[in-house]
Amino acid sequence: MGCARKNSRIEMGEIGKGEQPMKLTKEDVLHFLERVIEEIEKNKDFLTELDSAIGDGDHGINMDRGFKKVRDSMKTLKDKDIGAILKSVGMMLVSTVGGASGPLYGTAFMKAGGELSGKTEANEQEILKALKSALEGIKMRGKATEGEKTMIDTIAPFVSTLEKHIQSEEPEKAFERALESAEKGMKATIPMKATKGRASYLGERSIGHQDPGATSSFIILKQLVDVVRG
Ligand code: ADP
Ligand code: MG
Repeated sequence: MGCARKNSRIEMGEIGKGEQPMKLTKEDVLHFLERVIEEIEKNKDFLTELDSAIGDGDHGINMDRGFKKVRDSMKTLKDKDIGAILKSVGMMLVSTVGGASGPLYGTAFMKAGGELSGKTEANEQEILKALKSALEGIKMRGKATEGEKTMIDTIAPFVSTLEKHIQSEEPEKAFERALESAEKGMKATIPMKATKGRASYLGERSIGHQDPGATSSFIILKQLVDVVRG
């Protein structure tokens, strides 16, 4: 996975209560999407390999197809606010990714976009709210919860760790902690038995493999954190 590009467009505001408020601008969001497009393409074979072990071997192909559609639409996305950008991305993912993950990621981006409607920048609390809404959307749509060997096992610990630390620590540090929890959550899918999605057909044989959706979620969240830390 790539490393952070320099010259972050994140603006740090006035210092208050020992913390630096953060602003994620619309340009940061577009930059985040560009990074996701690139990293999903780089990890296409890896994700497909993971899905070959416990699914039907299409997760990398599905995700890459979806984010290539996003790449091809970057020009039109540039004129929108953050909420509208994320909603458009969500709709593109629903219509192009397919499989179980398409509607789930689509819902996640649409829900996040709904929380950021009309905004051209967002602070850490607003980002947290958008992430919480995205997670709720995934849970509702897929009727799954933590411990079922899905993308939720990466996203839920990210959100809860972020929420726990966002008040008391600098945003950058809180996001880094959240990513560490997400990585642990992703790895914790290895010994799990799948009870949702295609991998659940394997029952006990799903044990011992890292979940592909948990892995793509980590890749996406890592891009967000890299943009936050600049
Ligand atoms: P499909 O399984 O239809 O081929 P993909 O291969 O694109 O779709 O995506 C598989 C991933 O989707 C899984 O690794 C898992 O993380 C995620 N997934 C499947 N079902 C659910 C669900 N009900 N809730 C959350 N995530 C799910
Ligand atoms: Mg699959």
